[in-house]
Amino acid sequence: MEYKIAVIKGDGIGPEIVREAIRVLNAIGKKFGHKFVYKEVLAGGAAIDAVEECLPQETIQTCLECDSVLLGAVGGPKWDNLPVSKRPEKALLGLRKALGLFANIRPAKIYAPLAKASPIKPEVIGNEFDLVVVRELTGDVYFGKKYRDALGIAHDDMNYSDEEVERIAKKAYEIARLRNGHVTSVDKANVLETSRLWRETVQKVSTEYADVMTDHMYVDNAAMQLIRNPGQFDVILTGNLFGDILSDEASMITGSIGMLPSASLGESERGMYEPIHGSAPDIAGQGIANPIATILSCAMMLRYSFGLEQEADEIETAVNRALEKGYRTKDLVSEREMFISTTEMADKIIEEMLE
Ligand code: NAD
Repeated sequence: MEYKIAVIKGDGIGPEIVREAIRVLNAIGKKFGHKFVYKEVLAGGAAIDAVEECLPQETIQTCLECDSVLLGAVGGPKWDNLPVSKRPEKALLGLRKALGLFANIRPAKIYAPLAKASPIKPEVIGNEFDLVVVRELTGDVYFGKKYRDALGIAHDDMNYSDEEVERIAKKAYEIARLRNGHVTSVDKANVLETSRLWRETVQKVSTEYADVMTDHMYVDNAAMQLIRNPGQFDVILTGNLFGDILSDEASMITGSIGMLPSASLGESERGMYEPIHGSAPDIAGQGIANPIATILSCAMMLRYSFGLEQEADEIETAVNRALEKGYRTKDLVSEREMFISTTEMADKIIEEMLE
């Protein structure tokens, strides 16, 4: 089977990590008999330099014609003086909008060999910290009306429709079915009307997924529970604002920003896959960036956009095995410890996959 992937390498370490992720995709494709065809397009700072806009129409068009989008990261000091509306990061919002991506999927998992990187004590984390935050991406207080009234009081309108809640809830339940079958819906239904609608709608959707366990948690409690007993979660389903905060909190429990992938999904199978970290301009061009977050983003692409579950599992297992054997990029070691380069890390993962 042939899959078309739009590739946006982006800025800073973007090109270095995407190059390695593509090598891993090619290796898994060869092993299982799939062909991945790449269409490289520009967005972010590289696009500003080339055509003076961060998201050219041609990029949007190509992404729409492909089965999925792989993105490195955009932005950097070179473009920091531009007005906010013209900065490279604006391309991300434009892409999400153009591709109708309303669900942000952020797994946070501790790979056993890296357990000591977590700021949380091992006995609190246990062996089960492996969760996914499913965050609604296009609604909530971020997109409501914003204004200051005649008295100088500031307003941000928080709103959700039941359709918006229903479609993200369905995504979360579908993902839970591919995992451990447990959704925790997070809201603030004791105070907010939007949250009461959220809870009612999730309750309604949950009846269509009787095989998945559902519970509801207030956001303040969820923030505490993530630190107190993170192993209790499988899929956290939440709105844009709460998801923004909780997904960062969950990531930090892993302690390694270079390890965390993400996906943004819409109604269709097409998704956009990218590491959660930025373009790391401080280490760009040195060959020391950790490519694992981008490689794991490709595993998510195989699973969520192409339905290639076994292939995705193989990539994740190979990453774990390479770590178990002690291979580390610079961000994962303490001073004076040995580390390998971006390319060598991808080599080790490919070796494990082909074994
Ligand atoms: P960052 O994530 O780029 O870097 C934070 C720290 O983590 C740096 O010390 C960096 O060296 C390190 N780091 C990040 N990824 C790493 C990797 N794969 N391997 C090893 N070390 C890694 O965050 P920042 O410095 O705040 O932002 C830099 C630029 O990236 C800014 O222009 C920002 O706007 C942009 N950014 C882009 C995205 C995106 O494209 N989705 C996301 C966040 C930030």
